Amino acid sequence: MTLLIAKLMWGLGCVAYFCIRYPHQRRARKTAVAQRRVTGLERALMAISYSGLGVVPLIYVVTDQPAFATYPFSPVLAWLGTLVLIAAMVLLYRTHRDLGRLWSISLEIRDRHQLVTHGIYEKLRHPMYSSFWLWAISQALLLPNWIAGCAGLVGFGILYFARVGHEERMMLETFGSDYRAYMARTHRLIPGIY
Ligand code: SAH
Repeated sequence: MTLLIAKLMWGLGCVAYFCIRYPHQRRARKTAVAQRRVTGLERALMAISYSGLGVVPLIYVVTDQPAFATYPFSPVLAWLGTLVLIAAMVLLYRTHRDLGRLWSISLEIRDRHQLVTHGIYEKLRHPMYSSFWLWAISQALLLPNWIAGCAGLVGFGILYFARVGHEERMMLETFGSDYRAYMARTHRLIPGIY
C-alpha cells in the first residue's frame, strides 16, 4: 500500500457512494412526500457534512494541502482504512436496499410511509448513519493529514448529533407506539451498545 493507492481507495469510496445512492436519489424525486422537514439548518448541516467527507479530503488528495497538517503515511493504517471503507459501503448498500422507496436524503415522510424493522433495521435504528461513521473513520485511517483525515468525523459528527433527535421525534409523531416499541428493542448505531 502506498499513499497514492490510499488516496485512490478514498476516491473509490466516493464513487461507490454515488453508485449506491444515485438510483435512490432518482426515484426519490418521483416519490410523493407527505411531510418534509428540510429546514435551513438541515441544509447547512448537509453542506458541513459533505464538506468534511468530500470537499476537504478532495483538496488534500489532489493538492496535498494543508501541508502543515501532514504526518508520515502508514501502510498498516491504510489497509485498516480500506477494510473499514468496504464495511461502510456494504452497510450503506444494505440500508438503501432495506429502506427502498422510503429513503430520503433529509428528514421526510413519504406517502404511505411504513416503519421498516426488518433486515439491517431489525437491531439498529440508524444503520445508515453507522455506515457514514465507518466511512468517516476510514477517511481518517487512509489520509495521513490531521485536517483532511478528521474532517469527515467532525463534519458528519455535527450532522449526526444535530439531526438524530429530530429524526426520532419525527418518527415518534408519525408512528407513535410502534416506533416507541421499536426504540425499546433496538440501538441507534452499534448493536447491543449504543
Ligand atoms: N436514520 C436512518 C435513515 C436515514 S434516511 C438510518 O440511519 O438508517 C432518512 C429517512 O429515513 C428519514 O427521513 C425517515 O423518513 C426514514 N426512516 C428512518 N428510519 C426509518 C425506519 N425505521 N422505517 C422507515 N423509514 C425510516
